[in-house]
Amino acid sequence: MKNNKGNILILSGCAGSGKGTILKRVFELSDRFRYSVSLTTRSPRPGEVEGVSYYFVTKEQFFDYAKNGKLVEYTEYCDNFYGTPYDRVVKMRDEGYIVVLEIETDGARQVMDKFDDYISVFITPPSYSVLEHRLRNRGTETEDSIVKRLKRSKTELVHSKVYDHILINYDNRVDDVARAIIGICSGEDPQSFPVRINDIDDFILKYSMNDFGGAEK
Ligand code: 5GP
Repeated sequence: MKNNKGNILILSGCAGSGKGTILKRVFELSDRFRYSVSLTTRSPRPGEVEGVSYYFVTKEQFFDYAKNGKLVEYTEYCDNFYGTPYDRVVKMRDEGYIVVLEIETDGARQVMDKFDDYISVFITPPSYSVLEHRLRNRGTETEDSIVKRLKRSKTELVHSKVYDHILINYDNRVDDVARAIIGICSGEDPQSFPVRINDIDDFILKYSMNDFGGAEK
């Protein structure tokens, strides 16, 4: 049975939602949080550091971990595998920190099934066209990867319904989202944060409509 202790913060959001920037701000503003570094079979991007961004492993190494029950959860995402190592999550949680799992929705569900002391937050861009713009501007992905990630963003948004809170990351509102996350984890009233979505069905409808109309297409 889920309680609201919030020792684990599940943070999800599609690629380009701005989770990375938001998290950086959360860590600047509060020392109660610790980041869980994941395993991945994807290649490092420029600037990514082994053991800080990810543990970069081969498929064989990854499945050794999985087979031996060393992962809290794992999934395949856009042709690569990602997983959360058990031992560090438990250690940091026992030390009294809020452990941040920055993971996609499939893995998030697995964590929700295993733990009862989590708070889940989903970050969404304001619209599909804003997301497309951000992904292209980022310049780190191939066209194939951009298309896959855009497509996946829609599925993830539908899955966001199982999250405790869904927050919109408008351009230039990173600080507001970071403060909302800290506030939510401190037990403040979620309704008091203007970046929080209250009607997700309405938002999904508008998000998708943006895909088919408008000047960007
Ligand atoms: P990226 O390749 O852009 O770093 O990450 C792709 C997606 O995988 C992101 O949505 C990210 O949150 C997610 N991800 C990163 N680590 C993990 C993990 O350990 N488990 C799961 N399920 N997803 C992860």
